[in-house]
Amino acid sequence: MISEKMLALGTKRSVIREIFEYGNRRKAEIGAENVFDFSLGNPSVPAPPIVTETLNDLITNTPAAKLHAYTTAAGDLGVRTAIADYLNATYRADADPQKIYLTVGAAASLTVSLTAIICEGDEVIVLAPFFPEYNVFIRQAGGTPVVVSCPAPDFQPDPAAVAAAITPNTTAIIINSPNNPSGVVVSEDSVKALCAVLEAKQKEYGHPIYLIADEPYRELAYDGLDVPYLTKYYNNTLVCYSFSKSLSLPGERIGYILVSSKAEDADNLYFAVCGAGRSLGFVCAPALFQYLIPACLGQTADVAIYKQNRDTLYNNLTKMGYTLSKPQGAFYLFMKSPMADTDAFCEKAKKYELLIVPGADFGTPDYVRISYCVSPEMIERSLPAFESLAKELNLGE
Ligand code: PLP
Repeated sequence: MISEKMLALGTKRSVIREIFEYGNRRKAEIGAENVFDFSLGNPSVPAPPIVTETLNDLITNTPAAKLHAYTTAAGDLGVRTAIADYLNATYRADADPQKIYLTVGAAASLTVSLTAIICEGDEVIVLAPFFPEYNVFIRQAGGTPVVVSCPAPDFQPDPAAVAAAITPNTTAIIINSPNNPSGVVVSEDSVKALCAVLEAKQKEYGHPIYLIADEPYRELAYDGLDVPYLTKYYNNTLVCYSFSKSLSLPGERIGYILVSSKAEDADNLYFAVCGAGRSLGFVCAPALFQYLIPACLGQTADVAIYKQNRDTLYNNLTKMGYTLSKPQGAFYLFMKSPMADTDAFCEKAKKYELLIVPGADFGTPDYVRISYCVSPEMIERSLPAFESLAKELNLGE
């Protein structure tokens, strides 16, 4: 018999994907240059040259028997050591190679981490706005997502609201900073306040409440802003990292989980991560891309292009009368829907070939997401369309 649960997941397209597919049909009809597709978070900036250089070197100089062979389930120890050294030198993270587990991207890092810590009846707090796949990842692990809204317009977490949402069944909270879809970087003050709440609740309930740091956008922060490294603030932390966005390698599927060596019962927590990876089949991440990592740590695609895109969009759209939260990182702009019906607004935007994503699936129905990991030229070409849309809605008057 087919699993009803999986059938539903496989047949129900995400709204983002639906808009993207619509965009592809529209591009075929009227030409790609006439469609302004802000739907997906697919990095548009090429991977830095070090990626191609290192891959060429690996392919030329590594014996095939090693290059294409299985590594240990958790990933090659040399690679894990390089990651730990980098994290310790950069963030004083207290990272231990024996507490790192290589995965196929942040999605796998999250599913493995959640599977490692969720027991029957457990709840996981997600902060809205959030990456919609959290719902899927938490539920597949047997948990229940509990949504706590971050107040507009700055979307920093609200520690009192988090405290009120924690119950004896809370096993974890996911923090995603820089955030998809708001672009917000969680400030050090917010981190400290949240961690104080978590510490107090752990004491009250007598069991760990894990902090899962979802960090695929860590290096995409603008204006010199620091993104606090969460193992420094809270011991029961698991960092879910991915090279998808920092190196523009989303299709290669490579990332890792760092279990804080200061976590309670850290050895067993890590073993549970290894067990979850094993049970989900996420063992031995792609070997070639594991071996790529040491040379690329601390390197990024040219994020200045994303910053330029952010500035062009933010400055122009604000002038046109749209209400925006200025993103501090990632490559998403969060806009308050100028119409009470956000879906209707996104439909109206389609009239001008503007493809933007309504916020309901992110837990913020009054907002829309504009993904600006696109070419600067497309952004320039899209401005008259945004202007016409603003005029039709009488914005800025
Ligand atoms: N977490 C967030 C917040 C994301 O935006 C994404 C991808 O867009 C992921 C996790 C998954 O990343 P990956 O492609 O590395 O699996």
